[in-house]
Amino acid sequence: MLLATWGTFFVAAIVAFWLELRVEAHELSIKSFVKFCFPADGWKGQSARTDIVLYFVGKITAPLAGIAGFMVTGVMSVYISRYLLFAGLSPRGSKGGVGIAILLGFVFFLINDLSNYLSHLAEHQIPFLWEFHKVHHTATFLSPLTTAREHPLVMAFDGLVSGILLGFAVGAAHAYYGYSVPEMMGLLATANMFGTLLVLDAIRHSQFPVSFGKLDHVLISPHMHQLHHSVKESHWNKNMGNKLSIWDELFRTTFIPVRGEKLEFGSGSAEEDYEYRSVLRCYWVPFVRNFRSWKAAHWPAPQLESPPCIPDQEGRSKVA
Ligand SMILES: [Zn+2]
Ligand SMILES: [Zn+2]
Repeated sequence: MLLATWGTFFVAAIVAFWLELRVEAHELSIKSFVKFCFPADGWKGQSARTDIVLYFVGKITAPLAGIAGFMVTGVMSVYISRYLLFAGLSPRGSKGGVGIAILLGFVFFLINDLSNYLSHLAEHQIPFLWEFHKVHHTATFLSPLTTAREHPLVMAFDGLVSGILLGFAVGAAHAYYGYSVPEMMGLLATANMFGTLLVLDAIRHSQFPVSFGKLDHVLISPHMHQLHHSVKESHWNKNMGNKLSIWDELFRTTFIPVRGEKLEFGSGSAEEDYEYRSVLRCYWVPFVRNFRSWKAAHWPAPQLESPPCIPDQEGRSKVA
């Protein structure tokens, strides 16, 4: 996947560089191409430096969240499977052919993508979750490493939601076809890999505004996800799908970007972008901000009483 990520990134960069050459007077050299791919002001900035460290930390936290999600799916599927068999479902007695495996992989992919949409929607709509998801949105420069810019609690929440929803389908398929949970997770992983390549996931966090034209109503193109990171208020809470935009269409959260539109990235508040400027702050600030909100709601600061007004001899009021 690392090869696919950077391979897609460089192919997109070559196409974008060639298009830019036609409209802007760029020098055609390796040096100017490298500068175009890795703009110094972006890669040397605080946002990119935080992304780089979070990328390596994510090598530990992401698999842990993945294992947690897998375990939730496993437990859910055992209960669903037992319930269906108890309710009288007769097992098919065989796993079926390749067609059934492809169909199951596709169904799991759809359910997983829907669950990603729903958990992402919740992260934008519920203030407590937004403080944690904001870590991803305070990136002011997008690079393929920004994908890993996530709070571990958000990863765990995503894993929990998809684990619960997938548990129903996995449990039913286990009871009827006899597939094991790891086998079905393998089918999902394969379908996800195809989906990742199809939507050019590698460049969704990049400066290349690639759109899919009319297919933007079905798939989340890189430009659509870049709009999701835009500082413009009209772009907030839009394009929350992961790979498919059909959920955005269904819940009316689609925003098709203007072709080639260059966007500025961040949470929409320069102060908050700055507040989440380091790895430690990305991990710690969401707890602090949530605690402050909770405290303000339960122990509001005492209001200072306005001084009493004393009428003077002519009957006019004056402050004591
Ligand atoms: Zn978001
Ligand atoms: Zn993103």
